[in-house]
Amino acid sequence: EEPVSATPPPPSPPHFVIVPLPAQGHTIPMVDLAFLLAERGARATLVVTPANASRLRAAAGLAARANLPLEIVELPFPPPAETGLPAGVENVDQVTDYAHFLPFFTALRSLASPLESYLRSLPSPPSCLISDWCQSWTSDVATRGGIPRLFFHGPSCFYSLCDLNAAAHGLQPQHGERFIVPGMPVRVEVTKETRPGFFKEPGWEAIHEASMEAMRTADGAVVNTFVGLESQFVSCYETALGKPVWALGPFSLYNRDADMMASRGNDNTSDVDAQTWLDEIDEDDSVIYVNFGSLARKPPKYLFEVGHGLEDSGKPFLWVVKESEVISPEVEQWMSAFVLRTATRGLVVRGWAPQLAILSHRAVGGFVTHCGWNSMLEAIAHGVPVVTWPHFADQFLNERLAVDVLGVGVPIGVTMPVMLFGDEAVPVTRGDVARAVSALMDGGEEGEERRRKAKEYGEKARRAMEKGGSSYESLTQLIDSFTLQAM
Ligand code: UDP
Repeated sequence: EEPVSATPPPPSPPHFVIVPLPAQGHTIPMVDLAFLLAERGARATLVVTPANASRLRAAAGLAARANLPLEIVELPFPPPAETGLPAGVENVDQVTDYAHFLPFFTALRSLASPLESYLRSLPSPPSCLISDWCQSWTSDVATRGGIPRLFFHGPSCFYSLCDLNAAAHGLQPQHGERFIVPGMPVRVEVTKETRPGFFKEPGWEAIHEASMEAMRTADGAVVNTFVGLESQFVSCYETALGKPVWALGPFSLYNRDADMMASRGNDNTSDVDAQTWLDEIDEDDSVIYVNFGSLARKPPKYLFEVGHGLEDSGKPFLWVVKESEVISPEVEQWMSAFVLRTATRGLVVRGWAPQLAILSHRAVGGFVTHCGWNSMLEAIAHGVPVVTWPHFADQFLNERLAVDVLGVGVPIGVTMPVMLFGDEAVPVTRGDVARAVSALMDGGEEGEERRRKAKEYGEKARRAMEKGGSSYESLTQLIDSFTLQAM
């Protein structure tokens, strides 16, 4: 008699525990990543603090309705007596005093013990921890639990490669000096002010060193980018890092429902209906959209320059102004007068705007951006060319990528970073704003070429995320590699 061969049980899906940095520009892509993993059958757990969990209500609701294996786990944030921070500050965008940044990053380290307790409470250890590279304390937790760890690096591979190469050569240019980033497949010129590297200020050495060490000890990197956008930088970064780099984006391009698309983890959603306003615009690609991300706050004099510049450009515009930028009755008055004056041609959205819905609208043809990587990639993924106005961190290098390498950007011409709440003189005038907007929106042959390239990258982005596309297939491989380990 033939022996009956038992069918092996199907492999259980791998479990990814995801630890974002509590800052919108870091959390949003990791929430998207959690959805991508869960939609492809893996189990995804997002670990956040209570105030951040409450911002993810729309995301949690969507996951539940769609029956996705995605859960949100809350870890307690230490109380003000321990951190020296005001009560309720649990996210970088809630920090209103520059002196609170270092205590905030230090406070995050005390999430290690509750994370460890949560991991120990699971019937079996997760397959992998994916943590923001700024959450370096997760590396000890993973090591102690014997759990593989990937780090999520928010910016492009172009930026990360510049950062690695500049650090490897120990280059410290002096003020005013220009230097070429070594080891790059293209020429990249930076200055002391715009060179790559986070946490550069004195006092941040320990945080910086811990983050670098956590990158060195990780099993690989997950990046929100796609091979068709920066193929040579993805492979050079992988070689330089000496470990796998998973290019899985653009994360923002997967199916989502309207509620989640509108809130994207922010409770300060504007009630202005941008969608209806855009629907009424006849001409495609005619509106310039202006938004400087979740953190940058413009002091009044620059807010006014932006407004006047948009007015002078003569183009229809959709401008997002944060409530925290309208800091006095004078600014409020100026805004009211501006809104009245420009009502036939422009829309001012106060608060948090549905950026993805706006960028994907046929009427939007350009974006004045601070070059945060999420905003930049969202523009590219929707085929929208950009005016680049970098403020800090990786944004100056993202500008180089958009303008010099991809050919989809017009620089506004800033060369110095601004602090988040500073009033430093950054010499951008209404003339600069009007000139850059006009160049982007009707820049003749050059303008046409930029738009053509942006649309081409948008098309490539869409294909990368479809079955058979590079990002889709990389995600399959990532999930498979942990499925095999789980067996
Ligand atoms: N965002 C949004 N509405 C807003 C402002 C920002 O949806 O009014 C989203 C934007 O789509 C992006 C993220 O917030 O996903 C901002 O990240 P980015 O890296 O561009 O900049 P950061 O906020 O980190 O400076």
